Amino acid sequence: MERAIVGFEQDELGDWRAILACGHRQHVRHNPPLVERPWVLTEEGRNRFLGATLACKACDEGEPVNDEPVSAARLEAIYAQFQADLRRFIRSRVADPGATEEILRRVARGLQAHAGELGEGEGLAVWLDAILREAITEHQRHVQPGVDLPASAAPVGADEGGVAALRVAVRGLLDCLPGESRQALILSDDYGLSPRAIADRLDIAPAVAEARLGRGRAMWREALLDWGQFLSRPF
Ligand SMILES: [Zn+2]
Repeated sequence: MERAIVGFEQDELGDWRAILACGHRQHVRHNPPLVERPWVLTEEGRNRFLGATLACKACDEGEPVNDEPVSAARLEAIYAQFQADLRRFIRSRVADPGATEEILRRVARGLQAHAGELGEGEGLAVWLDAILREAITEHQRHVQPGVDLPASAAPVGADEGGVAALRVAVRGLLDCLPGESRQALILSDDYGLSPRAIADRLDIAPAVAEARLGRGRAMWREALLDWGQFLSRPF
């Protein structure tokens, strides 16, 4: 993710780091002949790069910035975005736009019914995709009772386009999880790393990586159920 440079600081060895808007730090060394960044050595030079953006890998991989809990306002914004993502998914699959809200409510019920079935190592977007398609099929059966739906409307295995769209929704909702569990879940779900690979990457014991993943999945389920409550609230 591209992040703006909001300042600079030096590390213990005197090497310059850019402070990014997200709170992550990134080295911007002048280390000739490998890296030529003479501008970083002067205040005037550094000032010229304020506001420029750098690709933040730490953000991509969910590296925690601090342990501050997510504020209520931020949580509402995350849920609202998740809802908007699901609405877009439903509208792309159901011709009648008037059915969207009813299907969303079915999705919330489906999440409640299936939250306990999210398997270890199962992709979050694949799982969510199955629940959404089930809600859509249920709705179609409800409005057209007795009509046998064509096979194409029934959920048959994971649909790659749908799963890709839902990855964005999943990633957005992960923002409400606390740092370490969120990072472990992103490395597992987005990057496909095993608990052992996550442990190596973060230099922690495999058991710690497993625990963070387990907590992350439990909190992800909580977040989904909480979103369902949010959905039924008037706003
Ligand atoms: Zn970042």
